[in-house]
Amino acid sequence: MLTRAAVLHEMQKPTPYAESKPLVIEQVSLADPGPGEVLVEMAGAGLCHSDLSTIDGSRPRVMPMVMGHEASGIVREVGPGVHDLQPDDHVVFSFVPLCGHCIPCATGRPALCEPGAAANTAGTLLSGRRPFSSMSGQKINHHLGVAAFAEHTVVAQESLIKIDSQLPLSTAALFGCAVMTGVGAVVNTAKIEPGSSVAVFGLGGVGLSTVMGARAAGAETIFAIDLLPDKLERATQVGATHTINASEEDPVELIKDIQNGVDYTFESVGNERVLQQAYAATRRGGTTITIGLPHPSKMFSVPAVSLVAEERTIKGSYMGSAVPRRDLPRFIAMYQAGLLPVDKLRSSTIQLDEINAAFDALATGTAVRQVITFEK
Ligand SMILES: [Zn+2]
Ligand SMILES: [Zn+2]
Repeated sequence: MLTRAAVLHEMQKPTPYAESKPLVIEQVSLADPGPGEVLVEMAGAGLCHSDLSTIDGSRPRVMPMVMGHEASGIVREVGPGVHDLQPDDHVVFSFVPLCGHCIPCATGRPALCEPGAAANTAGTLLSGRRPFSSMSGQKINHHLGVAAFAEHTVVAQESLIKIDSQLPLSTAALFGCAVMTGVGAVVNTAKIEPGSSVAVFGLGGVGLSTVMGARAAGAETIFAIDLLPDKLERATQVGATHTINASEEDPVELIKDIQNGVDYTFESVGNERVLQQAYAATRRGGTTITIGLPHPSKMFSVPAVSLVAEERTIKGSYMGSAVPRRDLPRFIAMYQAGLLPVDKLRSSTIQLDEINAAFDALATGTAVRQVITFEK
């Protein structure tokens, strides 16, 4: 079939993107779903910092590529051997396809799926296929097995989680990356205890989800740290008890003043200097969870003795250490019970054609989650 997609042909184009147009909206050809694959009509797709990191070249990927990895849609056709999904099912995408057989999958850590990571690096589906091609016949790569910035996509069944069809699809999209990563970091990676004290550095979609996850998990004190007053205001709305504008005050000093460090800190900026602050803001025995993706060349150092003498812990959290088939339904149930105010993440809805200007808004921090809606 033919469909419309936003294709990234070249990384590191200059800003503003509204002028340089790194994403080209074009008609592309989409192959039928093969064995174990599914054709999905896209409903909502969120713009995430990881997409921006590829556009600006700080997290390079194979080109050309249909971008986007946080999305929801409706199943339209299933390939041979797909038994768990059928047409008209509502789905959310998992940006790691979960093979189910490798050691991480078999030991309950599918976010680290090895064939899934290899397929994502190669820009293919789990089968090795690239279902998109240009009108001139050139193969186009798939972003994280999803390729969300397209009216239709074909993905491995292992990239899809069926959801409650009552959930509005533009809200459902946000569960695929922001909510799974942020809430998962709190409940799966950190496993915070009720009454804990927490600090969240960086308040994009993932950081705000971390704040609401900490609130839902019973944190008593939640510091929210960012440079932008708008984001601090939003953090208060989703459960932060204290906000710190790091352009005006030193967050580490302030946290140490108010209480002698916190039990858990979460770094969602992807900056090694902020990670250092997050580490310094924990109390003795505290745990630092790193969620953001720093540039691969960046190193991170801490006083080695503090790990032993102060029993500090640093833990990485990828995709919220999630088991998507378990976590998506339970996070959706928490939303439906009023425990996760996910709608507060969405700063606007846009059309596919507005995507380049929308990435300018994400880059400058004036937007949290902008969601492309495909409903006609
Ligand atoms: Zn993302
Ligand atoms: Zn696996």
